[in-house]
Amino acid sequence: MNINIEYKHETGFKNFFNRIAGKKLSVLYDVNTKPYAEALLLQIKEYIKKPVRVEYSDKELLPSEDKCERAYELSKSCDYVLAVGSGTLNDMAKSVSTRLGIECGVLATAASMDGYCSKGAALMRGGFKVTDEVHSPSDILIDLEIVRSAPRLMTAAGFGDIIGKYTCLTDWKMAHIVKGESIHEKAYSMMERAVAACVETFDGLTRYEDNAVAKLMNALIMAGLSMAECGNSRPASGSEHHLSHFLEMDFARRGEKIPMHGIKVGIGTLVAIELYNYIKDNRISFKGAEEVYKLAEALPGVEKIKGMLEKMGCPTRFSEIDVRRETMEEMIEKAYTVRDRYTVLTLVHDLDLTERVKPILMKKYY
Ligand SMILES: [Zn+2]
Repeated sequence: MNINIEYKHETGFKNFFNRIAGKKLSVLYDVNTKPYAEALLLQIKEYIKKPVRVEYSDKELLPSEDKCERAYELSKSCDYVLAVGSGTLNDMAKSVSTRLGIECGVLATAASMDGYCSKGAALMRGGFKVTDEVHSPSDILIDLEIVRSAPRLMTAAGFGDIIGKYTCLTDWKMAHIVKGESIHEKAYSMMERAVAACVETFDGLTRYEDNAVAKLMNALIMAGLSMAECGNSRPASGSEHHLSHFLEMDFARRGEKIPMHGIKVGIGTLVAIELYNYIKDNRISFKGAEEVYKLAEALPGVEKIKGMLEKMGCPTRFSEIDVRRETMEEMIEKAYTVRDRYTVLTLVHDLDLTERVKPILMKKYY
């Protein structure tokens, strides 16, 4: 995979300019990202043919069929699709360019999620959320000045997504111990190192310092790269993500606004750590238990993670993001079923601990 990941302060996007020279671009943006699109278009004017603008007047753009279709029709005469945005616009650009068989790229406007270079696009079809298989963008452009000025809750969500890698990687090791699942060492360590670097600069992140925001952005991008390396989402998605997916499906079923991915993942991480601690503190016995206790010990403490999330402005209880009480109870019972992947949620189910942990989790995280 050859993705050009370029930071403006390092190269001024010179590589990107070379790559798009002489091409006809279709540029996707919404009302929030329009100023950044305009500024970039002005900068690349002399390098490219007259671009096509796909402008959405939405404040909260949803990747519905009609919105995607419009981008598809308008982009037919182009040979590159550039998104100026984060999750939704990037997913739309990936989808449209995949259908047209042309390249795409993104000027990232927020460090809000880890899907920048993933081969999945979350779209809406017939009112339902679907994930299409798409190609990765050829270029990911990062201007820290733009990313830093994104709404704070978006950066907080990005941090929640990254903090979730602690439990996700622990789930992987646990599945290796308990189920003999193999670990892709390179993908594992890519993710582990990027998370460590991000957490190391946490104080700077709370002040939105360039260096720290860059570390967060890097970890988010690295999640995509490590998934590509491994061939599946194991390095970036474990129990904390399964909890989030369960809630997402519930919100979608009710037609309610879905809270940001990383916000749900952040609280899910607290729940997952709590489950590891329960198993360790109660010396629950099973094959490989001693090794799993050690994994639990190596995890950061619940209070530490909770404190970090709070400092970033992330909610730390599901009631704060409008999850219903009965939905959270159901999530504790059933979230292990949302993916065929062994996590601490599956372990808790297999050990018949669900009813024992439920009151503890409800008390602390609802
Ligand atoms: Zn995620």
